[in-house]
Amino acid sequence: MQENLKQCLHCTKKITGRTDKKFCSNHCRSSYHNILYGDRSNYMRRVNGLLMRNRKILSDLFELNRSGATIPLSELYLKGFSTSHFTHQQKKSGSLLLTYCYDYGYHFIGKDTVKIVQQFNSE
Ligand SMILES: [Zn+2]
Repeated sequence: MQENLKQCLHCTKKITGRTDKKFCSNHCRSSYHNILYGDRSNYMRRVNGLLMRNRKILSDLFELNRSGATIPLSELYLKGFSTSHFTHQQKKSGSLLLTYCYDYGYHFIGKDTVKIVQQFNSE
């Protein structure tokens, strides 16, 4: 009988039987996929967490500054804001760029100050 030299992708045990098998058992197959796709959903969970935190920071500051005051960007950073995570951007009246995290967004007023806006459903 020909020796099968294939190894299980998960536990590296030698696989017996059909040569197209990648795993020695169903248990190894599901463990392997859990690790693979588990990592991917961890990544998505992390990004979602950052976006939710950004949104919370924006909405809190928006509530505190209903008058439409400008806020130093450093204040957002202090709270853990990440400018590289946002859901969408919108260009308004020419050069004004609004950056949103879900329904709250901001735009720059000068170099280090932002104004926070709330997106309405009609927009
Ligand atoms: Zn295995």
